[in-house]
Amino acid sequence: MTFPATLPAFTAPGSFWRGNLHTHSTLSDGALSPEEVCRRYKAEGYDFIALTDHFVGLFDYPIADTVPMRDAGFTTLLGAELHSGAQENGELWHILAVGLPRDFAPSNTPFFTPSADQETGPEIAARAVAAGAFVAIAHPQWSGLTLADARSVSAAHAVEIYNHGCATGSDRPDGFSIADLLLSEGRALSMIATDDAHFSEPDHFGGWVMVKAPENTPEALLAALKAGAFYSSQGPELRDIRITERYIEVECSACASVIVQGPGNAALAVHGQSMTRAQIPLSRFAKGRWLRVTVIDAAGKRAWSNPVIR
Ligand SMILES: [Zn+2]
Ligand SMILES: [Zn+2]
Repeated sequence: MTFPATLPAFTAPGSFWRGNLHTHSTLSDGALSPEEVCRRYKAEGYDFIALTDHFVGLFDYPIADTVPMRDAGFTTLLGAELHSGAQENGELWHILAVGLPRDFAPSNTPFFTPSADQETGPEIAARAVAAGAFVAIAHPQWSGLTLADARSVSAAHAVEIYNHGCATGSDRPDGFSIADLLLSEGRALSMIATDDAHFSEPDHFGGWVMVKAPENTPEALLAALKAGAFYSSQGPELRDIRITERYIEVECSACASVIVQGPGNAALAVHGQSMTRAQIPLSRFAKGRWLRVTVIDAAGKRAWSNPVIR
């Protein structure tokens, strides 16, 4: 079977909207009010954010009402970071849910500790998906997540492949290791970069998604996220990715490296000066079921495509 010719981010109608999908406020353990968090993201040029406070009894199971912070140029998605049940290492699950209804029923999670009488992580993830949310496995490296843990969250749409707060606070930002293994097992997943901003350290404005949608509304953004019509970035822009008979063709903002990754050790890099396009031979990826693209600019900032899956 051949690869699709491109990705939804580059064929879907509309424009790219920049957003942060993982953020905390004083409704849980963040340092700033919901109003100030939204003001800062808007001032920094974001088109939307999701406030995703910790959905724990200690904080009265908050789903921040950010509707009053919407205006003509900025919107919000309702959401939360869900916590219930123990991972293999005995620690509490962290599941990111964006697009939750205001009346999403509380879990049985009074504190940040797992117990046997709670929903499991995979169960609360499935409940969030059933309620209409876009759901991601949060910060796998930071959590010490095993492959079996990640595999068990069968309802998840995405893996958080870069978490800026985990980068600044613990130098454990990665989710690619587990996401690549899940793709190689046959899962269809998208990949999100987020801030996980608490504003208690330099954990903000470092990783975001560029979502392609007809309009900057919660409904259109949520549909595009579920359809995988987006890419992730720390700065560089991805403008097009095409798969031809022999090449992967990439167009992007000026960068120093374009790298294509596939299953196992499959990877090819092209390096150059102020490159805005690159052609990578497809032959190295001929046997794999998926590939994805990373571009790196001269300052070391990255942009990441969603996987192309056949
Ligand atoms: Zn978390
Ligand atoms: Zn968080």
